[in-house]
Amino acid sequence: MSLWQTRWDASTKGRWTHRLIRDLRVWSRRKYVNSNFNRTWLLRKLSAQDRKKATPGCHHCSAENDDAEHTAFDCPAWNAHRTNLKNELGVNSLTTTNMIPAMLESAEAWTACTSFAVCIMQEKEEAERDREKRSTTLMAATLE
Ligand SMILES: [Zn+2]
Repeated sequence: MSLWQTRWDASTKGRWTHRLIRDLRVWSRRKYVNSNFNRTWLLRKLSAQDRKKATPGCHHCSAENDDAEHTAFDCPAWNAHRTNLKNELGVNSLTTTNMIPAMLESAEAWTACTSFAVCIMQEKEEAERDREKRSTTLMAATLE
């Protein structure tokens, strides 16, 4: 386990995940992993979404960079979701340091975090589809 931790700390990959899950011992003792884990996991999904995007800027606010951290912790577009999650977790603020420990507290907290991620992802994907539709329509209009 400590070798694993040393490698995790030294690795250059998955640094965003590392910011959230610093202590692998805590993470490995989690009890609430459900079958949706791989499908809905906040970090992975949001990061994958980032990689797909051609432009780095946030489409939902004026931020120049839209990455998983911006989406989960900063973007004002998701304030309502964040407030709900904070209430459900019983925390005053949501940070890269407290989210994972809070998430591991109970099955309810785990579900609250995954729903938070899923809701935002779905809304982002929907907005993305709308943008694609609009740009296709615009292109078609230009070609006519
Ligand atoms: Zn934003």
